[in-house]
Amino acid sequence: MKSSRRYFFRYMSALGLVSFFPVPISAKTAKNIVKYQSTPKDGNACKTCMHFIPETNECKTVEGSIDPNGWCIIYFRDPHYKEVKVEDDNAT
Ligand code: SF4
Repeated sequence: MKSSRRYFFRYMSALGLVSFFPVPISAKTAKNIVKYQSTPKDGNACKTCMHFIPETNECKTVEGSIDPNGWCIIYFRDPHYKEVKVEDDNAT
């Protein structure tokens, strides 16, 4: 078995114990980088994006408070999103 620093780092990297990124992988992206806007685009909004966390109005990938009606360039529609419609009990 070869023992060198290269093999050591390759092994540790394969185990996910060595990162070559200068910032933690869990860090979120700044709004200006993803061109975040507080309005929908082409009918797409954060509330239908798979990255949106409705309980806290946050995003899994973009930092800061997120408007449910906002949008950014990494928008990806949640295939499980279902619009909740409030029925009017007084309708005849
Ligand atoms: S559109 Fe962008 S900011 Fe909005 S939830 Fe999706 S990834 Fe986050």
